[in-house]
Amino acid sequence: MNDPEAVIRAGLQALVPHLRRFVLLHLEKNYGPDFWQQLSRPGERPFKDTDPRALIKAGISEWESVFRLHAPGQVKQYLHLLRDVANRHAHHESVNADEVSHALATMRLLAVAVAGDQASPEFDRLLFQLSPARAEGAGARQAVPRPPGATSRLTDGALDPDLLDAYSALNKAVLCPACRTKVFKAWPLGWDAHAAFACGGVTLSDPEDRKRDFRTRFARLFR
Ligand SMILES: [Zn+2]
Repeated sequence: MNDPEAVIRAGLQALVPHLRRFVLLHLEKNYGPDFWQQLSRPGERPFKDTDPRALIKAGISEWESVFRLHAPGQVKQYLHLLRDVANRHAHHESVNADEVSHALATMRLLAVAVAGDQASPEFDRLLFQLSPARAEGAGARQAVPRPPGATSRLTDGALDPDLLDAYSALNKAVLCPACRTKVFKAWPLGWDAHAAFACGGVTLSDPEDRKRDFRTRFARLFR
């Protein structure tokens, strides 16, 4: 998926269930079952809870009175940034590749802030799909293409390094990209000792050479 518009659309759709749950829960707690009226102002389109722009807008307009107490302060910044991107997307204004990946990373932060870590894999997948080119350079093994909807989480709970980049791998449990045996509990912590002395996926003998080889082949997983 290289079309920026399609990626933005997919990201916004992936955001809807997480944002919806959060927004409706706190609006109802605060205003009671009639909270819909609170959001439907004269002259504006009625609030629709399947519309990502409506949910983002509600998050911003009710930030001070409702959501501020239930989310970290950065969430407000995420909402503002995404409102801008979503509006430009809706008006078919062009959004460049850097802006798209920034928007996706922001959606991921927002989803995790309101719904927890389980919300992150779908955004990791979109981030990866957005820039598979990064997986190629520097002699790295080419990533294996996966069908859409394939999970990036392997059975033992570690993530598949073929589907990640430096950003999406950071601090995650990640399978070693070279030997695919070792699991790094919080990537990239410990990569150097493993590469230097233990990794079965590196064939050189000198520890410094081994580290350099590992680092070069899997440069996309390092910032
Ligand atoms: Zn290894």
